[in-house]
Amino acid sequence: VATPLAAILTIGDELLQGDRTDTNARWLAEALTGAGFRVTTLLSSGDAEGAIGGALARAESDVGAGVVLVTGGLGPTLDDRTREAVALHRGVPLVLHPPTLARLESWFAQRGERELPPTNHRIAQVPRGGRVHPNPVGTAPGLELPPAPGFPSTLFLLPGVPGEMQALFREAVRPRLDEAFPRREASDAVRVVRTSGVAESRLASMLEPRLAALPGGDSVNLQYRPSVQGVELRFSASGEGAEEKVSAILDGVGDLLAPVAWGGGADALEGVVVEAMVARGWRMGVGESCTGGLLAARITGVPGSSRVLEGGVVAYANAVKEAALGVDPRALASHGAVSAPVARAMARGARALVPGSGGRVGVGITGVAGPGGGSPEKPVGTVWIGWAGPDDEVADARVFRFPGSRDDVRERAVQQALLGLFRRTRGQDPVPSWDGVGASAGGDAG
Ligand code: ATP
Ligand code: MG
Repeated sequence: VATPLAAILTIGDELLQGDRTDTNARWLAEALTGAGFRVTTLLSSGDAEGAIGGALARAESDVGAGVVLVTGGLGPTLDDRTREAVALHRGVPLVLHPPTLARLESWFAQRGERELPPTNHRIAQVPRGGRVHPNPVGTAPGLELPPAPGFPSTLFLLPGVPGEMQALFREAVRPRLDEAFPRREASDAVRVVRTSGVAESRLASMLEPRLAALPGGDSVNLQYRPSVQGVELRFSASGEGAEEKVSAILDGVGDLLAPVAWGGGADALEGVVVEAMVARGWRMGVGESCTGGLLAARITGVPGSSRVLEGGVVAYANAVKEAALGVDPRALASHGAVSAPVARAMARGARALVPGSGGRVGVGITGVAGPGGGSPEKPVGTVWIGWAGPDDEVADARVFRFPGSRDDVRERAVQQALLGLFRRTRGQDPVPSWDGVGASAGGDAG
């Protein structure tokens, strides 16, 4: 059974002018891939009829008897021309669809309008032969054009507003795809491993020799997806036995990844950390300088994090590091605010925010996020992170040299602090010590 092909065409001058991000293409690409289609083509065009027709022809020639999803340009105003363009392209007239007109009238009546604003009559026009899928959350319906002589592709036209597009995809398009393309191959076997604290190139130099040596290593595809949060590894295989192949490869590299891997698929590191700390009954405090509360914000973004986080201090000025976290002024004077003794003292002070006894953990972050403020000894991107607890006050501090902008440095620091917490919940040092990982933690993409 062949995998059916799909193309996505997003329409709107705003997409080409850069003032709207094309989130529809991304969303649909994921949805169609998940539904067992191979997306061959992403296209965007302006609102002009000729441009839409040209893009449509290209999309259809790419997918043949597959499916083309079009979003945008179905609204009531004259700048929305998708309906006209599609009718022209297929060589069919637009015809009034009375049930849609009736729906529109009652929609507006419910909103206290006595009459349908005249421009809305356009929304009830359908290219002849098209099938109407009522919009569960808005006015413009979705339209489906089945294949016709000379036009082997199935078209779906959906409104551009993301919430409407998504509702229509789920409620109308997806069920129709299951009817129209019933014999789809199971989609590829995919396993995602999320890592932080190690650069992409370092991961590759560890993994690639091992993969080459493993039986079946060449039948599994590995993609590296780096971001400031770390590197996502995507292992995939297709065809017969795909699941088994991917599992065997993951088993074969598990020991290499264990020090830096913390989750899969849709996991977020803070969620994994909160869960692990809840399981151990640990509670924590944070002392943040250059990250200004971002660590606390990430943790409090997790539902149920009140069982883990007691609170924290944004200790930006030295005076606050002293007064609120108990950092020794002499340490600040002799080593500077961005130093191991200060990071350790901040972690201890953060731990002291946690009342009672039991597993109490503190994290301290102090660094130079830039763009100014760097020096030869402490260049921009230098961040010291301290972790204290859970059993006693003893704190461990490590230095990182994070690349990138101010935002990047701050986000990488938070990620590294969370990774350290995660490793602590496993009884490990906050930073892996195996060859090169700690040293390259701030490397090209870790
Ligand atoms: P409606 O029937 O609700 O008017 P429409 O089909 O006419 O929908 P557009 O007028 O093209 O849709 O777009 C409406 C809004 O939807 C735009 O202002 C934009 O914010 C958003 N939008 C359109 N296309 C996209 C896209 N590809 N990605 C993200 N947002 C989009
Ligand atoms: Mg538009």
